[in-house]
Order: sequence, then C-alpha cells, then structure tokens
Amino acid sequence: MDFSGNLVRWYAAHRRDLPWRKTKDAYKIWISETMLQQTTVNAVIPYYEKWLHVFPDIRSLARAPLQKVLKTWQGLGYYQRARSLHLAARIIVNQFGGKVPRDYDLLKKIPGFGPYTTAAVLSLAFGKPCPVLEANVRRVMMRIQGIHGESKASHDQTILKRLSSVIPAGRPGDFNQALMELGALICRSQNPLCLLCPVQSSCWAFKRGEQEVVPKPQKRSYRKITSVVGIIKKEGRYLIQKRPSSGLLAGLWEFPGGKLKRGETREKALVREIKEELGADVDKAKFLVKVDHSYTQFRVALHAYECSLKNDPALESGKQKWVSLKDLHKYPVPSGSAKIINFLETRHTK
Ligand code: SF4
Repeated sequence: MDFSGNLVRWYAAHRRDLPWRKTKDAYKIWISETMLQQTTVNAVIPYYEKWLHVFPDIRSLARAPLQKVLKTWQGLGYYQRARSLHLAARIIVNQFGGKVPRDYDLLKKIPGFGPYTTAAVLSLAFGKPCPVLEANVRRVMMRIQGIHGESKASHDQTILKRLSSVIPAGRPGDFNQALMELGALICRSQNPLCLLCPVQSSCWAFKRGEQEVVPKPQKRSYRKITSVVGIIKKEGRYLIQKRPSSGLLAGLWEFPGGKLKRGETREKALVREIKEELGADVDKAKFLVKVDHSYTQFRVALHAYECSLKNDPALESGKQKWVSLKDLHKYPVPSGSAKIINFLETRHTK
C-alpha cells in the first residue's frame, strides 16, 4: 500500500488553513511549533499573530528585553519555552548570523530545540527528511503498527524507525504535517473516524477493531493546591513582587502570598505569608475573589484578599514594586494573577 502517498494526498485535500502553513520561514515555523506543543491550534493562532507583530524576525526577538518576551508569551504557560526562544534567538544571531542552522546536530544543540522542534523546523522549512514524533503522531503510529501499552522510549524508537523508512524525500514537511493533522482530525484519541481515514488499509488496530485500546489511555492526575494572595494598595498603587529567576514561573510578577500549609486556614496562611515575604503584619483582610487555574501538573485555587498592613513592608529594590492599576497589565504575570488583575479592572470600571 502507498502509505505516504495516500497520506500526503489526503493532507493536500483536507488540511486546515493555518497561518504558519503559509510560510517556509524557519523563524516563523519555529515559533509556531514551539507554541503548539501541548496547546491547541485555536488557542495558538492569536498568540502567533501577536508574537509576529511584536517580534517580526529573529533579530527583533534577540534584541528584546526578557520581560517583554515573557509578557508577549503570557497566557500560553510553560514560560521556560519563551525563555528558550529568547536565548536561542540571541545565539542564532550572534553565532550564525541570524540564520537558523540547517544541520540537525548543530540545531539540536541550541536551547529549546529538542528532537521534535528540530525535526519540525528542518523538515517544514528546509525540506530535510527528519520525521517528527509528538502526541498525535505517536497515537497514529501506535495504532498503525499495533504497539500496545503506554507510550515509552522504546516504542518511540520503533515508531521513528518506521517513519524514517516511509518519509518521502521530496515532501518530508507535508508528510510530517499530514501525520499530525491525521491525529488531530481523524485518528482522535476517542472515537477515531476510521471510515474516513486515508491509511486505513495499513492500520493494524483498524483491522482488529482495537482503535480504542491502542495506545492504552492515560489517566492524568492533577495535584490540587490552595493558595492565598494579599492585594495591598497604597496611594492608588498595588504591591507586586517578582518570582525568582529560576524554577516554576521564573521571572514573572505576582501578588505576595503562597500555599496553605496542612491544617492551616486561608486567613492564617495569608498572615504568615505576608510576614515571611514582606516582614509586615496584616491589620485587616477581606476576601475579594477566588480564581482557579490549571498548570501542567497541578490545579491552583487562588484566594485573593484585600489587605491593610499595620506597618510598612520592607521592600527589596527590583524585587517588589507599587504599580498603578492601569500599569499592572504591562508586567508578565502567571495566568491566575492575570485573572485577579482582570477582576480588579472590571470592578474599577463598574
Ligand atoms: Fe487511526 Fe483508524 Fe486510521 Fe487506524 S484506521 S490510523 S485507528 S483513524
């Protein structure tokens, strides 16, 4: 069976019209592929367009301060990716004259270029026969090859070996995109549309009616976290502080506060956190709003309290700032804090 031919022909007829499919520019493809990891196409489109408006080419990204990069990325999560894009742009400008390297081993050494992004950029922008392997491709190929169980490294090797033998030399980018598109539109994890599938005749799972059990469905378990933050206002400005420059949500700004300890009430946690972080005692605290947000591994219920303090907080220069409501949106903040800022803005305009 002409597996690759059937797949690429189907893609030509059914592919979605997406902004990053209109270009062969390696920079734009790199940005889109980085944004698309673990984020849906529809969610990425406005971020991609905004990003290219702010940073139209690799040199503009390399020149930009990190805070502007994080702010432009805000809402996509996985902020390490934005930091890697920024660092990689500087390396490519300084060491490669602003041109994305076309060599697999060279490109793979640059921060943020893992096996997936490297193969995607090389195949889509430069026509190199490098197969991509991401969640959609993995699911499609496990079904086609009849690979049971959960995904793991040894399965990935089996899949990549097969893909390397069938990726067409003339159209590797279309082949890779076709497989990802097939996984997104037809070979879905639930209720795959096998009767519309262009590679049905090559599919082990279809022939045995085992589409729903290959691969083994994964259960996701989220840790639940309850946090409190203090909304502290002085002369019309709010107190925000910068997170450490490494670790979770590094370099972003947020309202002071933190996680509840075991057995602690929200009010006690608030008093403790404000004391620990600002060296100040809470005078009065009034519950304001609760927002929920999901991160990769956990869900946070964030409880915001309007606070007054008994004494002035001890602020560290560069780490904490008083910021007016209209300027709060200029700072890169985690999504939970962004929801609280939206709440404050909406309340202000009522
Ligand atoms: Fe997926 Fe069904 Fe196509 Fe097999 S036949 S690749 S299970 S959509």
